[in-house]
Amino acid sequence: MPSYRAPVEDTLFLLNDVLGFHNHANLAGFAEASPDVVEAVLGEGAKLAETVFAPVNRAGDLEGCTRHPDGSVTTPKGFRQAYDAYAQGGWMGLSVPEEFGGQGLPHTLNTAMQEFVSGANLALGMYPGLTQGAVAALLVHGSEEQKRTYIPNMVAGGWTGTMNLTEPHCGTDLGLLKTKAVPNADGSYSLTGTKIFISAGEHDLSENIVHLVIARIEGAPAGTKGISLFVVPKFLVNPDGSVGERNGVSCGSLEHKMGIHGNSTCVMNYDGAKGWLVGEANRGLNAMFVMMNEARLAVGVQGLGQSEVAYQNAVAYAKDRLQGRALTGAKAPDKAADPIIVHPDVRRTLMGIRAFNEGARALVLWTALQSDIVHRSEDAKQRQAADDQLGLMTPVVKGVLTDRGFANAVEAQQMFGGHGYVEEWGMSQFVRDARIAMIYEGANGIQAMDLIGRKLPRDGGRAMMTFLGEVQTFIKDHNETEALKPFCTPLQAALNDLQGATMWFMQNAMAKPDNAGAGATDYMHLLGLVAIGYMWARIAKAASAKSGDARMEAKLVTGRFYMERMLPETSLRFARIKAGSDTTMALSAEAF
Ligand SMILES: Cc1cc2nc3c(=O)[nH]c(=O)nc-3n(C[C@H](O)[C@H](O)[C@H](O)COP(=O)(O)OP(=O)(O)OC[C@H]3O[C@@H](n4cnc5c(N)ncnc54)[C@H](O)[C@@H]3O)c2cc1C
Repeated sequence: MPSYRAPVEDTLFLLNDVLGFHNHANLAGFAEASPDVVEAVLGEGAKLAETVFAPVNRAGDLEGCTRHPDGSVTTPKGFRQAYDAYAQGGWMGLSVPEEFGGQGLPHTLNTAMQEFVSGANLALGMYPGLTQGAVAALLVHGSEEQKRTYIPNMVAGGWTGTMNLTEPHCGTDLGLLKTKAVPNADGSYSLTGTKIFISAGEHDLSENIVHLVIARIEGAPAGTKGISLFVVPKFLVNPDGSVGERNGVSCGSLEHKMGIHGNSTCVMNYDGAKGWLVGEANRGLNAMFVMMNEARLAVGVQGLGQSEVAYQNAVAYAKDRLQGRALTGAKAPDKAADPIIVHPDVRRTLMGIRAFNEGARALVLWTALQSDIVHRSEDAKQRQAADDQLGLMTPVVKGVLTDRGFANAVEAQQMFGGHGYVEEWGMSQFVRDARIAMIYEGANGIQAMDLIGRKLPRDGGRAMMTFLGEVQTFIKDHNETEALKPFCTPLQAALNDLQGATMWFMQNAMAKPDNAGAGATDYMHLLGLVAIGYMWARIAKAASAKSGDARMEAKLVTGRFYMERMLPETSLRFARIKAGSDTTMALSAEAF
């Protein structure tokens, strides 16, 4: 059976030595997150992930969820106990303000915990993950009454949350949605329609389920300008706050899917269900974007979590599996063969996953830190700068970490040969589970379009200019330092590719938007490569300051691998971008 160890040490190193987490004590909640508190929180989180979530991962995959004739859904054995342990441990509200029952700690810590949970048990982690997203949307757009009614119950874990966007005929293009909301005399609305693919739409983990649903109010404009957001509880809430009558929303069926079997993916039927408007009418997408942005980062973290657990198991197998002899002569002459970790091609694979994971973890935590600054800083300029970087990196974290997360799960599976393909070793589950993260919360092609169409040109390209400037300044300040030359030199070459690609779009995409569409995914990966390269340069700076520490020596080697063998992919991406869209678009649809 596969095992999982949460990367606590690495996370602490990144927070303490690389990202300067404790320099942010001026932000609300950061003073309470002293180094010993952070270490204790991550240590406890790791224990929960390793000893409670991971042990029910495989069983959850095998058993899946069951829908009963009355529409109720049972989650796999052990999920309820694990969920209760998570809720009772106070994890749901780790970074929620104290006035709603949370602990008010930085979201950055919550993000680290999300990685542990996603690595240990992705399907189970989605139940609290969606709840946290719904809480975030209510915190920003809910009325005072909605906040008081729902958030404390969700933070306590007694109620969970969902996000209801997708309908059979609309996923990416939400402007096509048909779910209808008719105003009632008491200020509520009656919602009617069908939502599909709703994660955690129905289950047995909580007493109530709080659905956040987008719908069109009768008479509202067509398209995205007529979408409103509603809160629709499974059970109506009595005036005293207790759970009351059943609302007109139910699970029509469960999807049979490739992975995340332990998470219930539901068709949800709304039959005149009572709902209440969240935020302004016809501004629902805006409100839902809070949840979607939060969820996009969390989904990127899922990609990393799956990549990490797959890597850990591949390493264990590679040290154990005896096949062939090292090219340089036997390394275990007393055994029938050497362990496969002696082979350079096996090393190449393992180093590639490792170098990605450690760099991507830094990027994730850095991005989460920007989110904390946006929500907690009192300095408007600092908030704006952080918001720019958060906006720019959200599609990159989502798109790149899940594309690579899946690819890495496949690479790790490859280390097992045929044993990776059979179910017994558990590697196939990582591949199947990691796959969904590339699709939901906006398919990755859409993340790339968001980056190039919205985030890049916003405010005259300010976010990208700032990012390019920050990386350039780092290189200028450190390229004379001997230990950092192997990092700064390749980073400069990659930065030149990124600058060149950005300029190319400015000159070639305005008049010909297909050029932007055809190059978007390459550009997203190009930016991801540079952003992770920049993180590696910062990691190298911190690691080289701690000479004599074997762990840090390994960091520097891993970082050099990234710089030598992974970062140069930027030139391939740039070349593809410059090829434009002509051949991509030349064939008529009939010619396919
Ligand atoms: C297991 C699972 C769980 C899910 N959980 C939820 C949930 O909790 N709540 C919820 O609301 N939804 C959920 N979804 C739905 C998910 O978010 C959608 O499937 C996803 O957004 C894509 O929508 P679609 O399936 O309709 O694909 P489509 O929108 O039909 O897209 C099909 C393909 O075309 C591409 N494409 C479409 N438009 C464009 C464009 N303009 N430019 C370039 N490419 C384009 C897409 O990238 C995609 O590759 C879930 C889905 C699954 C499978």
